[in-house]
Amino acid sequence: MLPEIRDAHPARCHCGAVTFEVTLAPGGLATAARCDCSFCRRRGAMVVTAAPGGLRFLSGQDRLTLYQFGTGTAEHHFCSICGIYTHHRRRSDPGQFGVNVACLEGVNPRFLDPVPWNDGVNHPSDRKG
Ligand SMILES: [Zn+2]
Repeated sequence: MLPEIRDAHPARCHCGAVTFEVTLAPGGLATAARCDCSFCRRRGAMVVTAAPGGLRFLSGQDRLTLYQFGTGTAEHHFCSICGIYTHHRRRSDPGQFGVNVACLEGVNPRFLDPVPWNDGVNHPSDRKG
């Protein structure tokens, strides 16, 4: 059974400097997925999708650091103190944010597996036509 997730669900990095609230996109925790692009396979996080406007930072937004690579479209955010990935702006849909499911209070990704893998090796934005 999936843990209960509510709108504006509390979330934080590991050290607690960065705290935020997340409202998930329709489907909630069922949007959980992994990705095998060169970056995500190293990061190893399971990601869920936030609803539009569904991210609200309560503290530590100034502690976040940004990593970009390749086309620079995606924005990967991390806590600069504990190094935990919190969220990212999607390359496939820059209006959409992915969130580290393990940052959500009360959610253990172990119990969400198995989740689908996105084909990051053949990213939709790299396909021609
Ligand atoms: Zn932190």
